[in-house]
Amino acid sequence: MLKNKSKPKQRWLDLAPGDNVVVVAGKDRGKQGEVLRTLPGSGKIVVRGVNVLKRHVKAGQSAGGTKAVQGGVVDFEAPLSYSNVMLVCPHCNQPTRVKHTVLDNGTKALECRQCGEPYERIKKTEAQ
Ligand SMILES: [Zn+2]
Repeated sequence: MLKNKSKPKQRWLDLAPGDNVVVVAGKDRGKQGEVLRTLPGSGKIVVRGVNVLKRHVKAGQSAGGTKAVQGGVVDFEAPLSYSNVMLVCPHCNQPTRVKHTVLDNGTKALECRQCGEPYERIKKTEAQ
């Protein structure tokens, strides 16, 4: 009998769309941008203006999530590994690692390792 393949455990990513991150490895090292999408299943994220690739598409094809109305060369941001970026702390403006912490009121939060300030994510409303 075949055993059920255990699903790869989804890694919880500390980053969420809207966070400001800096790239610390790879060809786009030093670039800073906003997280557009996270792909927790593969441990990757998409950052605005980082890892931009070009794809030649025919009209109607989609590349990197954007549907091309006209054919031609489309720039799109390719996912890069989550470990290649670091969160930029809005308090001390430094790329930082985050620490998981629990606030006094019992809610879980992220904390900057540099300045110890809790990292508060600007909540986006569903309606935008
Ligand atoms: Zn900080």
